[in-house]
Amino acid sequence: MSEVERESMEFDVVIVGAGPAGLAASIRLKQLNPELSVVVLEKGGEVGAHILSGAVVDPIGIDRLLPEWRDDPDHPFKTPVTDDQFLVLGPAGSMRIPNFLMPPLMNNHGNYAVSLGNVCRWLAGYAEGLGVEIYPGFAAAEVLYNDDGAVIGVATGDMGVERDGSHGPNYQPGMALLGKYVLIGEGVRGSLAKQLIEKFGLSKDREPQKFGIGLKELWEVKPENHRPGLVQHSFGWPLDMKTGGGSFLYHLENNQVAVGFVVHLNYKNPFLSPFQEFQRFKTHPAISKTFEGGKRISYGARAITEGGYQSVPKLVFPGGALIGCSAGFVNVPRIKGSHNAVLSGMLAAEHVVEALGAGRGNDTLEAMRPPGAPRTSART
Ligand SMILES: Cc1cc2nc3c(=O)[nH]c(=O)nc-3n(C[C@H](O)[C@H](O)[C@H](O)COP(=O)(O)OP(=O)(O)OC[C@H]3O[C@@H](n4cnc5c(N)ncnc54)[C@H](O)[C@@H]3O)c2cc1C
Repeated sequence: MSEVERESMEFDVVIVGAGPAGLAASIRLKQLNPELSVVVLEKGGEVGAHILSGAVVDPIGIDRLLPEWRDDPDHPFKTPVTDDQFLVLGPAGSMRIPNFLMPPLMNNHGNYAVSLGNVCRWLAGYAEGLGVEIYPGFAAAEVLYNDDGAVIGVATGDMGVERDGSHGPNYQPGMALLGKYVLIGEGVRGSLAKQLIEKFGLSKDREPQKFGIGLKELWEVKPENHRPGLVQHSFGWPLDMKTGGGSFLYHLENNQVAVGFVVHLNYKNPFLSPFQEFQRFKTHPAISKTFEGGKRISYGARAITEGGYQSVPKLVFPGGALIGCSAGFVNVPRIKGSHNAVLSGMLAAEHVVEALGAGRGNDTLEAMRPPGAPRTSART
């Protein structure tokens, strides 16, 4: 454990990150054993603050986690996908690819256009209702180990550290949150996950992870330009033939449209700016009409894992597991990972409950394996 003297709190399970993975894990833990003490740390000022909103979500995860969710009047899945369009863009025109030519996995029938931030806020309400303690505004800054090298918790960041790293007059060490198991649901390329993958060699014999950058904006558009449930994907212009990526446009409720652009980060052109390409994309005649007279109300960018199944690291290490996008569970052609985040969080929770029930703790949840494992089978 670190030499700094810290105040500590003990839990059965410590979860890092209140994204779909962390929240699903916390709910599943309490569903299976209400007596467990479970804490979720979230570095955003509130749950959902760091979640890049508009998304099309496959409800398979939520269906398994909360089978009765449709009876909850406050659920956030208000906009079923009504129309799926795939466009190839050229500099001046566009061509729609007939849906029957698209791979079935890209069909969005049965999915929902949602704000993922709202989904997280809603899940957090369920978790807290079950007794999960959620601490927003606290980043897990350090992994804590015991003398055997097993993970026993995390520490929040120290306060009052000077620029040169020395302890200033207001220095206060971060808090230690100790758990019998620690689940890492930091999302893509989290700082703790990176350390754990390195320390325990979790990516050994796996393909390297690949990443893209995703930029997203949420717009309020004129009612006549809004078609709730319309989902549009495009590829081609403004990217050249050597640069991978594409766009998405999701019509949510309340005249809102989420528009985004993903560029694979192996692009060769040193002058290419994914942000500029995104802005150019919105000027295309097939796209710009949607935004005429509209207003951009929020925006953001974040990484997305693109390595696929072969890049998923070993999921377990002594004392915990990687869940959701910490493990890279995005299905790239579907541009979806939130359902796998929920499923992997549930799967981890089920193994943790089994291990705790057997009196275990801070060991390796050996039975946990990448998709294909029993019980809550993950779906790609
Ligand atoms: C541009 C783009 C578009 C996407 N579109 C879709 C889509 O349409 N449908 C879909 O299903 N998926 C989509 N995805 C993927 C989806 O966003 C992820 O698969 C999903 O959010 C992963 O959930 P998660 O819980 O693993 O991580 P996240 O959702 O990233 O949540 C991680 C949480 O952990 C917090 N956190 C991180 N580090 C720490 C720390 N050290 N301490 C405390 N808290 C921490 C973060 O603030 C965040 O709240 C998209 C991704 C991108 C980038």
